[in-house]
Amino acid sequence: MKLIDSTLKPEFTSMFDVEHIRADFPILKLQVGGKPLVYLDNAASSQMPQPVIDRLVRYQTSEHANINRGVHYLSEKATAEYEAARGKLQRFIHAREDREIIFTSGTTDSINLVMHGYGRKFIGAGDEIILTTLEHHSNIVPWQMLAEEKGAKIRVVPINEAGELLIDEYEKLFTERTKFVGVLHVSNALGTINPVRHMIAFAHARGVPVLVDGAQAVPHMEVDVQDLDCDFYAFSGHKLCGPTGIGVLYGKAELLERMQPFKGGGDMILSVTFEKTTYNSIPHKFEAGTPPIAAAVGLGAAVDYLSAIGVDAIAAYELELLDYATEQLSRLPGVRIIGTAASKTAVLSFVVEGVHPHDIGTLLNQDGIAVRTGHHCVQPVMLRLGVPATTRASFAFYNTMAEADAFIAGVRDVQKIFG
Ligand code: PMP
Repeated sequence: MKLIDSTLKPEFTSMFDVEHIRADFPILKLQVGGKPLVYLDNAASSQMPQPVIDRLVRYQTSEHANINRGVHYLSEKATAEYEAARGKLQRFIHAREDREIIFTSGTTDSINLVMHGYGRKFIGAGDEIILTTLEHHSNIVPWQMLAEEKGAKIRVVPINEAGELLIDEYEKLFTERTKFVGVLHVSNALGTINPVRHMIAFAHARGVPVLVDGAQAVPHMEVDVQDLDCDFYAFSGHKLCGPTGIGVLYGKAELLERMQPFKGGGDMILSVTFEKTTYNSIPHKFEAGTPPIAAAVGLGAAVDYLSAIGVDAIAAYELELLDYATEQLSRLPGVRIIGTAASKTAVLSFVVEGVHPHDIGTLLNQDGIAVRTGHHCVQPVMLRLGVPATTRASFAFYNTMAEADAFIAGVRDVQKIFG
């Protein structure tokens, strides 16, 4: 947890005891091939601290039953813990009401819910949807499916060489047919932080609702959905030190109420006859069947853990890691950093002259260093920037300067091998 460490390197200014934090993460003690694990694949999935693991064990050992409508002790307990988790998520992203928090299985599921629940009802033939070049495939493909079904069109905001959105071009894309905007808050491949607040205000001035994919933002910065004024905000638990299989869709209550359900089944109804079904109120209208109760409780514990450290402190520390690693990496000849936006989170994508990213990843793995290589589910970004793939090191608040050094040394060794 947050403590002041007197052993910090002098140049290391944040009030952050990273060793103390690391002690909370059992997996970080792992050896890979006889080397200490250096986990730099946090944008794909982050690791889970002991308090979250303990919370899951407590739930399973003393609180579990199916939720809603049970009259026995355990069902009431599990229902209360599940709803308490909803309240924690509401406070974490500063939503106005807890019924605006819908538990889903992850960002992908959340975006699909909006596509089916909002898109299929309110977007029709000839209508236009604005997306950006930076989107993860999960915020492209559902909208393409909708466009194909309805005869709608997708318009795409271009980026510059640094991986920043061209906001003038965004503004020019609006027409009287624009019905929806989907934009990611932070790029998973490049780390670019997009000016979503401005983009939302611009869209709203034209009566257009905005969905923000926050999968890479919530773990790394304070997010206030009321301040952003976004209509929808989607994110995943497993990138937030929580379990897999859980995510959140935030939606403004008045929009969620006007939407059609995505999945039908138990719990999302008030009454069913073969003639007619009436739907439950929000958020239950969108949570058909038994939800991931344990995972929701675990995610609640994860946001408690992150809040105790302080998301602002996490952001400041990760920025120091990014600045340090960027400076070191850019000193290596033949290395090109892909994604050099002025405003970034701690994601370092790069290519090395003459070496395929998969070879870099494989060789770093031999040193216990976990990075990701490939197109990172953003093929349009790769196409635009003219690279088939990159190597991506993505940092979290439990990474250290020493790990950044090990990573840089590993890249240098790869270069030596390839001459
Ligand atoms: N959007 C972004 C920006 C992401 O980074 C990811 C995960 N890589 C997703 C969406 C999809 O998240 P999930 O697989 O948890 O649904």
